[in-house]
Amino acid sequence: MPRDTYFRSIDYLRISITDRCNLRCVYCMPEEGVVPCSHDDVLRYEEIERVARAAAALGVRKIRLTGGEPLVRLGVVELVRALARIPGIEDLAMTTNAMLLRRYAAPLAEAGLRRVNVSLDTLRPERFRAITRWGDLDTALDGIAAAFEAGLEPVKINTVVMRGQNDDEVVALARKTLEARWHVRYIEWMPVGDAARDWRARVVTTAEIRAQIEAELGPLVPAKVGGAGPSRTFKLPDALGTLGFISAVSEHFCASCNRLRLTADGKLRPCLLAADEIDLRAPLRQGASQADIQALLQEAIHAKPRGHHLADCAQVRDRAMAQIGG
Ligand code: SAM
Ligand code: SF4
Repeated sequence: MPRDTYFRSIDYLRISITDRCNLRCVYCMPEEGVVPCSHDDVLRYEEIERVARAAAALGVRKIRLTGGEPLVRLGVVELVRALARIPGIEDLAMTTNAMLLRRYAAPLAEAGLRRVNVSLDTLRPERFRAITRWGDLDTALDGIAAAFEAGLEPVKINTVVMRGQNDDEVVALARKTLEARWHVRYIEWMPVGDAARDWRARVVTTAEIRAQIEAELGPLVPAKVGGAGPSRTFKLPDALGTLGFISAVSEHFCASCNRLRLTADGKLRPCLLAADEIDLRAPLRQGASQADIQALLQEAIHAKPRGHHLADCAQVRDRAMAQIGG
């Protein structure tokens, strides 16, 4: 397993396969004026596969496909099939907004995808439309149902909590776990890209979210869920699902960070929240060997910073979340 300068084991690669999206969530992308990468700038599937093979040879065991919206890229099922066959890759997952999941869940599972994380910030149709700007709640819920039918479990539900927008629904989402195997993860809103303008006034901390849930529904008990990343996981007694808290801002988990990110345009990003990147696309297109790609991956691993400074109200301005891959 490769280790970085701070002795963290890096066994997880998140791959953004497109910066395009069929939604425009308020915390992630502006409604208009988004200029996507040109097709030539985006890594081709065979290039992504080469990077994944090099990463697996170094000891990466887990890959997550993300975006933008990964399901808007044509041929994604075949990419999943190719990645699932790479020796050493034990866990292959995807983060999606579920708009196209009804169509893709079964073929993805058949191709070797293990599980999905679905972004869902509200259970109210008008609010869903307001937050995603272009989305439809019933379509998302049906996509989640399709994920269960295809066995893409555990299904994790990612909820970004924003003051004045959906913070009055944290309890309703927690209640869902009493009756469904939903693993709801409350994510602190991170100030990334242009969408971060009024972030400071609207970020809701994990402590606040948890206090709200416990005040209404009683104490949470510690729990476990497969593939638990940076979230701290609890459950309501007797619930089918769990509740996770991803406190990127208030209690950041950099000390246990195990990941590298590959952007859609082929840059290795050692830290989501730091602008340093290492280009892989040019070497890939100029005849780099697998050993060269592995050396660049090692360089990115060694470039991982000890931590980030979001709590000091620093912001990530170089890219939007949809470009980095969330
Ligand atoms: N389109 C897919 C989706 O929404 O699930 C995958 C890409 S999206 C960028 C990945 C994750 O990043 C989503 O769960 C989303 O909620 C989260 N995200 C986006 N912007 C965020 C922000 N500013 N703070 C915290 N999480 C964010
Ligand atoms: Fe698209 Fe996902 Fe960003 Fe929403 S969070 S705009 S679905 S990339």
